[in-house]
Amino acid sequence: MFNKIKQAAQRLEGVAHRTPVFSSQSLNEKLSAQIYFKCENFQRVGAFKFRGAYNSISSLSDEQRRQGVLAYSSGNHAQAIACVGKLLGVDTTIVMPTDAPKIKLTATRHYGANVIEYDPQTQVREDVAAEYLKGRSLTLIPPFDHDDVIAGQGTVAYEFIKEVGDMDYLLAPCGGGGLLSGTAIASKNLIPDCKVYGIEPELADDATLSFKTGIIHSKPNPPTIADGTRTASLGNLTFPLIREYVDDMRTVSEEAIEEAVRFFFYRMKMVVEPSGALGLASLLSGRIKPRGKIGVIVSGGNIDGSGMSEILLKENFTDLD
Ligand SMILES: *Cc1c(COP(=O)(O)O)cnc(C)c1O
Repeated sequence: MFNKIKQAAQRLEGVAHRTPVFSSQSLNEKLSAQIYFKCENFQRVGAFKFRGAYNSISSLSDEQRRQGVLAYSSGNHAQAIACVGKLLGVDTTIVMPTDAPKIKLTATRHYGANVIEYDPQTQVREDVAAEYLKGRSLTLIPPFDHDDVIAGQGTVAYEFIKEVGDMDYLLAPCGGGGLLSGTAIASKNLIPDCKVYGIEPELADDATLSFKTGIIHSKPNPPTIADGTRTASLGNLTFPLIREYVDDMRTVSEEAIEEAVRFFFYRMKMVVEPSGALGLASLLSGRIKPRGKIGVIVSGGNIDGSGMSEILLKENFTDLD
């Protein structure tokens, strides 16, 4: 799998942005550690999902490309597949929940994808996709449980480690676990002593439960603001990878996530969506004791103006001490 990550990095060269790594002096002082943020909120489509989508679609045969691609996603994978489809001239159809953030639905349509909406309270997206596939020969590209997707997502950590070097901890958010699997594989191959932690919202702690018990737990449609991690459960590929390569999992409260979004906004002048703020949330709330050199993957920045202003208006000025 590590070879696939290296191949993916070559494919993405000159296509994906090599995203910047930022840090905050005041945060380092506050936490007595050196924190490095890999800023995938500045990736194409505003999230790391561009990497997995491009790696997957560019690996398809000419015939598969002619037939088109189907995906299901609550947002960022949808946008990424739609954008890459446009880039490579491949037709895309995306199954999306009606309650996905407007910005994500609009952007997906804007790239020219055929969007099929479903009600997440009453329908399961895999079933909606399977129904649509009947009698059609589109290639399904799932949001995380796919080798080429995992390899593409693994290029985030691959680039990050090439730039920053050795680290004591590497933190990545976890939904279905594509990003976390790829992160852990890249990290264990390049800097084996680095501890890799997956971070989840408390309200969507299925992966933490699965990691600890050794059985896949499922939480359908959890009510967290971190919509990128609302995935019901880890997948058949990501679960064993996470069990093997990830050192531990941590959960964070909704309040801690909001505090981290505000920190990025006010202190670092960055727009980060709630899912992208999980790593910082785990540090600010003390769920991970900061020590040494810590890499944090900031996974995306797609948040509506209304969602952002709601978080900013709850401002708790102790955040800014
Ligand atoms: C998809 C996504 C995640 C979760 O990634 P998985 O590979 O599903 O674990 C986290 N943050 C953002 C911004 C995302 O789009």
